[in-house]
Amino acid sequence: MITVQRELVNPLKMIMKSGKVPLLFLERPTMNNQDIKKAGLKVTTPRKKILDILTHAEKHHMSAEAIYQSLAAAGEDVGLATVYRVLTQFEEAGLVTRHYFEGDQSVFELNQGEHHDHLVCTQCAKVEEFFDETIENRLHSIAEKAHYKITDHALNIYGLCPECQEK
Ligand SMILES: [Zn+2]
Ligand SMILES: [Zn+2]
Repeated sequence: MITVQRELVNPLKMIMKSGKVPLLFLERPTMNNQDIKKAGLKVTTPRKKILDILTHAEKHHMSAEAIYQSLAAAGEDVGLATVYRVLTQFEEAGLVTRHYFEGDQSVFELNQGEHHDHLVCTQCAKVEEFFDETIENRLHSIAEKAHYKITDHALNIYGLCPECQEK
């Protein structure tokens, strides 16, 4: 899994260094029943459906409500409480990452294994991803100076996306 992602991401990082592509467009990991099993969970219908939505939905960062609505739209009978429960189980198993974006409920995405940060539109709640080597290096040197060993960091840029600026 991680090897595959490295293969996908490294060429992109090289393009970014050349200054041509400012944002990181990670390719979506596709997860299936095998991943549920590997995570030590039983494959149940709600778990299958929710993983399927996170893998194939157009938006890769979704709230529990959005997942619930898209299940309902597909005629699936999965309650909101179940969606929350499954997402929490997925998070504990390392299949998904949860983000707490400003002014919104938490948002979930499949765990890509590769670190990235986010741009969040405060009007339409659109989420984009980026990776900036300079920022990453800077954060590491700040932590080093403070004698911290970094385990994680989250950086979110909030603002209006190009489409919402037009409105
Ligand atoms: Zn927007
Ligand atoms: Zn993301």
